[in-house]
Amino acid sequence: MTDSLTGKLIMVTGAGDGIGKAAAMAYARHGATVILLGRTQSKLEAVYDAIMAEGLSEPIIHPMDLASAGTEDYDLLGKTLQEQFPALDGLLHNASVLGDLGPIQYFAPESWMKIMQVNVNAMFLLTRALLPALAQSGDARILMTSSSVGRQGRAYWGAYSVSKFATEGLMQVLADELRNTSSIRVNSINPGATRTEMRRSAFPAEDPASLPTADSLMPAYLYLMAPQSRHLHGEALDIRELLARVQNDKASAN
Ligand code: NDP
Repeated sequence: MTDSLTGKLIMVTGAGDGIGKAAAMAYARHGATVILLGRTQSKLEAVYDAIMAEGLSEPIIHPMDLASAGTEDYDLLGKTLQEQFPALDGLLHNASVLGDLGPIQYFAPESWMKIMQVNVNAMFLLTRALLPALAQSGDARILMTSSSVGRQGRAYWGAYSVSKFATEGLMQVLADELRNTSSIRVNSINPGATRTEMRRSAFPAEDPASLPTADSLMPAYLYLMAPQSRHLHGEALDIRELLARVQNDKASAN
């Protein structure tokens, strides 16, 4: 699948670190031009440099703080993108914050609002602004990042858990709207426990070496952007099942 994304334009949010960084690198290595959206410009520049150092398609950097961006910022991004490119072929909603963990009764309202702003409202605003550009692609994907606590509520996971339920809700509503009216395919993915900064802050006592790396998830992230996954739509996907599926497909192709 090394050229599976050739000619495609794919935006990755939270592309400066963790799973988003690994996905941006993987998409670029498989031929895509990537738009790196994230909060910390220096991290996005480091990913840009890494992609350029491998001689891949030049990425686009779009620094944006999803906690403070306004509707007009998203609309301008959507408009500019449509003016400069024929289509957007993929949108990986990956950026999220964990925020505070704790019982609902004592959850700080400002913290709750901020988590919902980054994890839910920003995803809605970005999707809304980019749907016209995605509609221009003959085979576009929207992939939303969920979590096990977005499929089964867990005590003390507060706004993060609720925001991931909302992620699943947005995925289902949008998928249903687009099912018969568009070629855009919409799914959610639970990447599972992964060796990143977010996981370290949630489980500080855990040995990071015991966890899969973000790079090891990439066969599934690539598959979900590639033509082979066209049949998947409106599904809440799990990384382990997908990785096994990709492995089986490879084995039967050999
Ligand atoms: P990281 O914390 O390592 O990376 C998150 C990325 O999101 C960073 O690049 C960060 O930017 C960016 N980001 C955070 N806030 C904002 C903001 N306000 N504006 C723009 N960008 C922002 O997380 P992971 O890689 O671990 O997580 C990626 C996704 O996977 C998330 O949606 C997470 O919920 C999900 N997930 C992760 C699991 C895990 O075990 N790691 C398990 C289940 C789900 P910056 O670096 O500049 O702060």
